[in-house]
Amino acid sequence: MYTLPELPYEADALEPHFDAETMRLHHGKHHQAYVDKLNDALKEHPDLAEKPVEDLIADLNAVPEAVRTAVKNHGGGHANHSLFWTSLSPQPTAPSDDLKDALTETFGGLDHLREGMTAAALGQFGSGWAWLTLQDGALAVKALPNQDSPLSSGATPLLNVDVWEHAYYLKYQNRRADYLAAWWNLINWPEVERRWRS
Ligand code: MN
Repeated sequence: MYTLPELPYEADALEPHFDAETMRLHHGKHHQAYVDKLNDALKEHPDLAEKPVEDLIADLNAVPEAVRTAVKNHGGGHANHSLFWTSLSPQPTAPSDDLKDALTETFGGLDHLREGMTAAALGQFGSGWAWLTLQDGALAVKALPNQDSPLSSGATPLLNVDVWEHAYYLKYQNRRADYLAAWWNLINWPEVERRWRS
């Protein structure tokens, strides 16, 4: 059985960028629903439910066809939100010189990474996420729809931002760009670096 991870900070800790009410709903209702529906989908498959959810979505072909879509959607939702909460920090952080150099080599600088992730997130029609990934040693920015995960195509997710409307509508309404500008202030760079090095 999968369980909802606790937020690594209080729901109001990311104010004013992310408001407490959105955080409570997003974590306690939306993320909880992905966990519940994943557990429901796997109730006849206890062998699968023992595995880390990331292992399931990294190898969807190994999941029986009858529950594959449910695992992709709800397992993806569980994994993507778990990564998202831990990618945020109430205290401002900065990338180390090593990580900054790697990001500059690929994207031309932190500002260009921000522009790239913002453009990917704004360009995602409808629901989805923007991602910073590492694959075969190469950093990349991409957008994926719905709860699709870079893990399913063999990439390691380093950072993500949720652009489902439930992530921002209460505070930002249709202003996805304002939400993304606020998100940039919250990135937990030491955690991004830990993923990059592992
Ligand atoms: Mn979400």
